[in-house]
Amino acid sequence: MRLEGKVALITGGASGIGRATVEKFVREGAKVLIVDISLGSAQRAVAEIEELGFEGATAATQADVSVYSDVEAAVQRAVEVFGKLDIIFNNAGIAGGKPLLEHDPEVDYAPMIRVDQDGVYYGILAAGRQFRAQGTGGVIISTSSIYGEQAAELAFSYSAAKAAVISFTRSAAYELAQYGIRAVAITPGRVATPIINQFSEELKSTFASEQLRNKMTEPEEIANVVAFLASDESNVINGTVVHVDDGYSVY
Ligand code: NAD
Repeated sequence: MRLEGKVALITGGASGIGRATVEKFVREGAKVLIVDISLGSAQRAVAEIEELGFEGATAATQADVSVYSDVEAAVQRAVEVFGKLDIIFNNAGIAGGKPLLEHDPEVDYAPMIRVDQDGVYYGILAAGRQFRAQGTGGVIISTSSIYGEQAAELAFSYSAAKAAVISFTRSAAYELAQYGIRAVAITPGRVATPIINQFSEELKSTFASEQLRNKMTEPEEIANVVAFLASDESNVINGTVVHVDDGYSVY
């Protein structure tokens, strides 16, 4: 088991990529604090993991990642419940968008930046401080997107936030290596999670055709890569982007 004895905090852990990663981490031996804006969903995830036979391996806490004090409190909660923190997966996010010239900045820009960009910064800051205080090092994995590296329709604000996640990852790796802290970003392509439900069936089938296997990626496939990145097996992967997009970025 690659994460035996490790403690992880996963934001957006109640659904989709985060939920699949909670289960993968637990199967690899980790204890996981599931952090989500929806406490009910996070608690349901804990119950589901317990039903699989992993009693005491997870706990749930409510936090809005766009509020620094919430993220800081979540990090402290992980330490209270499991004794320390080794890994943070900054994964919570929202998607969607409008044509640029139809934007209301307060509706179509600010919330996306607050959750998808500021939320990741807060996770890096709060976990980084905890890792430094522990003197144990740590791993920071953050979810960017294929849109963090390219322009896309209806994605002006989302792309900006996801590009910032890549920049944060490089800078955090550079600055925090002195504390034994590693940072990596992932760029998923088209993943079959609830975030995609807002799009039409036609658009979903276009999404699938944009990947080389001509299908949507399953969240468990992303979770497998995140578990590797969280483990000591990937110690030389630092400050970079790992493309988990089924070849989307070859075009
Ligand atoms: P999802 O909607 O299934 O999961 C997102 C989770 O984040 C939910 O549980 C939600 O409650 C939580 N969340 C939302 N806002 C929050 C906040 N302010 N504070 C705390 N939790 C909050 O979607 P997903 O596809 O699993 O998304 C996970 C990440 O992957 C997101 O960052 C998303 O942008 C990114 N991503 C997804 C895809 C895809 O195709 N699904 C592609 C690229 C990147």
